Amino acid sequence: MAESQLACETRSLIPYLDLKAQYQSIKAEVDAAVMKVLESTEYVLGSEVAAFEAEFAAYSGAAHGIGVNSGTSALHLALLAAGVGPGDEAITVPYTFVATTAAIRYTGATPVFVDIDPVTYMIDVAQIEAKITPQTKAIVPVHLYGQCCDMDPILEIARRHGLAVIEDAAQAHGAEYKGRRAGSMGDMGIFSFYPGKNLGAYGEGGLVTTNNPEHDRQIRMLRNWGTEQRYFHKLKGFNYRMEGIQGAVLRVKLRHLEKWTEARRANAAIYTELLRGVVTPVALPGRRHVYHVYAILTKDRQAMTERLTAKQIQFGIHYPQPIHLMEAHADLGYKPGDFPVSESIAEQVLSLPLFPEMTREQQRSVSDTITPDLQN
Ligand SMILES: *Cc1c(COP(=O)(O)O)cnc(C)c1O
Repeated sequence: MAESQLACETRSLIPYLDLKAQYQSIKAEVDAAVMKVLESTEYVLGSEVAAFEAEFAAYSGAAHGIGVNSGTSALHLALLAAGVGPGDEAITVPYTFVATTAAIRYTGATPVFVDIDPVTYMIDVAQIEAKITPQTKAIVPVHLYGQCCDMDPILEIARRHGLAVIEDAAQAHGAEYKGRRAGSMGDMGIFSFYPGKNLGAYGEGGLVTTNNPEHDRQIRMLRNWGTEQRYFHKLKGFNYRMEGIQGAVLRVKLRHLEKWTEARRANAAIYTELLRGVVTPVALPGRRHVYHVYAILTKDRQAMTERLTAKQIQFGIHYPQPIHLMEAHADLGYKPGDFPVSESIAEQVLSLPLFPEMTREQQRSVSDTITPDLQN
């Protein structure tokens, strides 16, 4: 889905997102930054990556940032730094991108699912404690679609049980909860810079945020073969390094992120106004929603997607299948009915095109295509 969205964007009347328009608006800055890396030969890590790490950590209100080659790698390393390994359990949701579960499984630990809240589609905090066992090591709340989870009770439960909290903020760059930014509240936070994310690289990228200098040091080693000194390997590490060109592009784009985020928020407000009577995203008080995804619910998704397709309007479905029902994770032993809210939302959810450059005309045309369904 994501791949085709990036590739097909020019073929639709209304694309799901418009990376080409965004590049055109910053072309001179980006081109100069990329050329500088080519001249410097700092192709892997290097000064642009180091500067980006510091700038993104500051943006997120965290003391440290460690750049890696994807959001998935960031989560894998954050879990390892939290001491999660074989025989352990990590609590998360089945309603998220598959990477959240996959990274837990890379460590040898078992993901333990908690169903989602039917209004926010994020972890149902009231169900967490019943899932804690002596094997539980961490909670991985997912800030879905760009809105923060209810972090205070999650942090309180974790403190009481001695668990690490790793925020999956892959969709939540700059999102806030009671004045605190995503990635600064838990022991660690992870971000993705996949091109379609709110802050996207021109390739793959990810980052771990933390206020803990020990986690910072360990993750820096783990991403680079477990070394602090070349060829002397202290830890069994990985090649998860961020590329210099991605660091340089991300530095340029970070300077525009607040403007783009405010444009997304304004466009989301326009949709919500136009789509009265439709189940639109709930923006909770005390939180800054950054609308990575603007998802509505529909009882007849088939009909609605056919109408959108006929009008050449791209859409997404995030996500059509909860992870506990995926073939890839069937060995976890779950069955239909185990997480009824996740299953019900997965059947009804539909993501509308939303990007900073979107025009009011485009939004009206999407809403006109959506609203005839209200009569059913
Ligand atoms: C995108 C995403 C990831 C993984 O990030 P990649 O950079 O694609 O590896 C993890 N969790 C969530 C919720 C995501 O949306």
